[in-house]
Amino acid sequence: MKDFLINSIYRATEGEGVNIGQSQIFVRFQGCAVGCLNCDSMDTWEFDPSTVMTLKEVMAAVEYQGHIGKIKRVSITGGDPLHPKHTPRVLELVKELKLKGYWINIEAAGTRVVDELFDLIDFISFDFKTPSTGVATNPQLLRRVIEQYGNRAQIKSVVENKADFSAALFAHQWLLENTDLYLTPWVVTPAYNLGEDFPEKRFQDIISWNEEVGAPFRVIGQQHKWIFGPDKKQV
Ligand code: SF4
Repeated sequence: MKDFLINSIYRATEGEGVNIGQSQIFVRFQGCAVGCLNCDSMDTWEFDPSTVMTLKEVMAAVEYQGHIGKIKRVSITGGDPLHPKHTPRVLELVKELKLKGYWINIEAAGTRVVDELFDLIDFISFDFKTPSTGVATNPQLLRRVIEQYGNRAQIKSVVENKADFSAALFAHQWLLENTDLYLTPWVVTPAYNLGEDFPEKRFQDIISWNEEVGAPFRVIGQQHKWIFGPDKKQV
């Protein structure tokens, strides 16, 4: 049955976070209801029924994009792959990928922890949303991710300004006091917005703010935007 809502399936280099530089196949689900103000993938928001594929078609595209199955790494992203409309399909896909020996990352928007999926997935990239996104992350969800999956997860926060940095720092300190956070890297991604020139000053400021408080974060930019510019898709 054609019931996988898919935006795109393509091969690219991981551009952000602790797995930066790793070639993988991106399976981008179509549909997201989170509504981040600074989203750079608004084309993935609509739950567009015209974008459907079967599981067989998705697997064929993954194998083809991976040079006929030579690249065995997949990142499941969106949209929001953890939206309840997607999760049954994501679970089917994850089971099939694991049968074929794939390593799997999932990009989680920070709004849901889905244990039956996270139990099967190799690496969880979980967002802490900063004020400039206009979305709030429940710290109890971060706590669950760290406690249950902390040795194969990262927390990621896009930081645009000092208020964003301070919010991430506040959450980091609370989690340090309440969990074994030291097991889990927390990546701060300096924002590089659509249509913007490379924000050199923002990068420099964030590195300074981080160092002034003892460098709790790893500051890692989005490599694909340096190479191709902030607007290019599927890179
Ligand atoms: S969760 Fe991701 S796709 Fe959805 S609005 Fe936020 S940045 Fe965009």
